[in-house]
Amino acid sequence: MIEGRRGRPAVFLDRDGTLMRDTGPLAAFHPELLYPGVADALLELTARGLPVALVTNQGWVARGALTYREAEQATAGLAGYLERAGVRVLGWAFCPHHPDVDTGPYAGRCACRKPEPGLLLRLAMRHGIDLWRSVMVGDNLIDVEAGRRAGTQSVIVMTGDGSRHRGHIPEGVPVLESVCDLPRLVGRGFWASDYG
Ligand SMILES: [Mg+2]
Ligand SMILES: [Zn+2]
Repeated sequence: MIEGRRGRPAVFLDRDGTLMRDTGPLAAFHPELLYPGVADALLELTARGLPVALVTNQGWVARGALTYREAEQATAGLAGYLERAGVRVLGWAFCPHHPDVDTGPYAGRCACRKPEPGLLLRLAMRHGIDLWRSVMVGDNLIDVEAGRRAGTQSVIVMTGDGSRHRGHIPEGVPVLESVCDLPRLVGRGFWASDYG
């Protein structure tokens, strides 16, 4: 939380299963992984004054299936692609840790693996984001929970793992078929307070 003055609202987005297909350990971004219409939907948010921020769990790094640098490249690659398409990307962050791994630099519990709010808090601090006017969008209940813990609203999408969670989604959490429906949610005034 920024002290003194209000920050800007942002849309936090999970990466795998939300913006693009989850193909396991990914060392480099390829545009064909993106779900159809994602860039256009995010462009629409940019046009309405809502920048995005990417937050992704990459426990593959702790497990040794990806290097830190590869996880970084894949996430930065996606961010760069979206920026070149005209989307306002404030920043991105990933968690390299995994609680089930007990050796190596990324072993054990951390404060950033979703559902922990660490990634969102870090980006909010760095980019002056007002969490209370922001939203976390993901395909998993851990995304919903990370948003709740960080103080954002949460939205779940039915791409990726999303459909597995039908029937278990906390009350009040909007369910969208995909990220492509986000601009419509904004249009309906989902964001209680002023945005942009
Ligand atoms: Mg996901
Ligand atoms: Zn972590």
